[in-house]
Amino acid sequence: MKFLTFERNGQPRLGLVSDGGRVIDVAAAGGPADLLSVVKGGEAALQQVRRAVEGAKAEASLALEGLKFLPPFPHPAKNVFCVGRNYAAHVAEGARARGQQGVQVPEFPEFFSKATTAVNAHEGVVPLDPKVTGKFDYEVELGVVIGKAGKNIAAAQAMDHVFGFTIVNDFTARDLQRRHGQWFKGKTLDGTCPIGPIVVVRSALPNYGDLAIRLRVNGEQRQNDRTSSMVHKVENIIESLSAGLTLEPGDVIATGTPSGVGFAMDPPQFLKGGDVVEAEIEGIGILRNTIREV
Ligand code: MG
Repeated sequence: MKFLTFERNGQPRLGLVSDGGRVIDVAAAGGPADLLSVVKGGEAALQQVRRAVEGAKAEASLALEGLKFLPPFPHPAKNVFCVGRNYAAHVAEGARARGQQGVQVPEFPEFFSKATTAVNAHEGVVPLDPKVTGKFDYEVELGVVIGKAGKNIAAAQAMDHVFGFTIVNDFTARDLQRRHGQWFKGKTLDGTCPIGPIVVVRSALPNYGDLAIRLRVNGEQRQNDRTSSMVHKVENIIESLSAGLTLEPGDVIATGTPSGVGFAMDPPQFLKGGDVVEAEIEGIGILRNTIREV
């Protein structure tokens, strides 16, 4: 099952993407009204969606094209959790770009977060204020959506707590990321965390640990790797993050980006107004955003 959130008559609506590429308005079919309800409701809620969609009338079926997309969770309660430096080739390119020798991959996952005000949608405009940053960059990442709440989750049980997977673009102001010591400021400018549009339920994506993950800028491929290249795997990230910290339904964890980011190119290439950035993950879809100077 593939879910998305879109806007209809000014309201957020939950959509289920059908095999034929149509979108069923789940609430119009008599099912749950939003993705968080489904995530919290677990298997019973998924059954409710299945029953509603089977009996859906024609007016509940919409064309995917022309929808106004929203983030999967339009009003997230918490920051998006993120993992830094989680692909070896990206760690190496970052060290090379900064002229550092002998940099190792992190022994433990490096965590930071992006504020709820950074969350953005598929086809949403990403604002770029040249007075704030001159080094604006992209990062395609596999996003993990937490289903069942938990704390001190062992890696072996981690997937029981996962609802599904999505795409996150961890847009980053590199100059702010460096200047402020902690990464937070450079990672969390408004609109710099597009998520979605699709959330694929876990059971429909059994090979989440080995998916093609790519990013293009204006059609030019910049990032191209597989999720199997992660240093810390999804299960270990959940174990580490949940140690003494409660994960809740609807929490999103961005699991790090492969090599190919703009700041590590020679010469470095940063984003500018009008650039179209497409983040793609096999089996999930494409997350597309346009940069606009403000
Ligand atoms: Mg990142």
